[in-house]
Amino acid sequence: MRMLITGGAGFIGSHLCKHFLDNGHKVICVDDFSTGRKENIADFLTNQNFKFIERDIAKPLEPGEKIDQIFNFACPASPPRYQKDPIQTMKTSILGSLNMLELARKNNARIMQASTSEVYGDPKVHPQPESYWGNVNPIGVRSCYDEGKRAAETLFFDYQRKYGTDIRVVRIFNTYGPNMDPDDGRVVSNFITQALKNEDLTIYGDGMQTRSFQYIDDLVAGIIKMMDNEKNFLGPVNLGNPDEFTVKELAEKILEMLPESKSKIVYQDLPQDDPKQRKPDISLAKKELTWEPKIRLEEGLKKTIDYFRTVLDGQK
Ligand code: UDP
Repeated sequence: MRMLITGGAGFIGSHLCKHFLDNGHKVICVDDFSTGRKENIADFLTNQNFKFIERDIAKPLEPGEKIDQIFNFACPASPPRYQKDPIQTMKTSILGSLNMLELARKNNARIMQASTSEVYGDPKVHPQPESYWGNVNPIGVRSCYDEGKRAAETLFFDYQRKYGTDIRVVRIFNTYGPNMDPDDGRVVSNFITQALKNEDLTIYGDGMQTRSFQYIDDLVAGIIKMMDNEKNFLGPVNLGNPDEFTVKELAEKILEMLPESKSKIVYQDLPQDDPKQRKPDISLAKKELTWEPKIRLEEGLKKTIDYFRTVLDGQK
């Protein structure tokens, strides 16, 4: 099959490219390198089944080949990155989704939207099931991402109702692993690179806010199961690891795993609208996809530390 992956040079997108190339499929990767990285796709460039298009998906795209499946994964996902150019973030989610849905319609292709736990905002229901409509500030600094992703979900379901487009929607919770950008500004990449560089670990706020961290391989397995399900199960479905940790626990765990590090913990201001807690209810994914994450935090962190160590060694 021929897959089109937007955001294919990004953290999650590059793992999807690899998965499909390893399984003998053809991959068209679309990325404008706004947060995606050339290093993430360097190994694929010599593969005959891989084609790269450098492009902003907010502009219409005509790849010129018949596409079987589209994975719409383009969008900066780290708060400092998506807030840097909030109008472009909204365009990527909304115009990008429209363009990809049109492409799916023309090609009769199945299309998946990478949605996010951010659609739940600062949730008043804990853990979050898909049936919860969320608690999102429409005019805050995170809104460009949260509302953009919410509007994208709406577009997907309206295309499905109006044109019968074959859609799948996954809501991805915090995910980490190799191919994350060390300068992305997310908590796992920040803490690990800080610890490796003997810089202090920056906890925002008191560190009592919680997140649930999913390792990339578990997420990829869930995405594939969702895309391939023939039960007409469209989603949205939560994909995340329900093990919940405070940010402080995460910092302590990383320091424990790197005993040679001279880093200490320091506290900084909490960013505006930072959600206090986040944990997926994954009953629906268990029931419909017989999927659940298998990789525990320590195991995933170990692989991620090894990855960042190699990246930082290369920068010396
Ligand atoms: N965070 C932190 N220190 C950092 C980066 C992030 O304490 O260096 C906190 C952030 O305020 C949030 C949590 O870690 O409460 C997760 O942040 P991240 O940016 O990874 O993702 P989010 O889930 O907020 O989108």
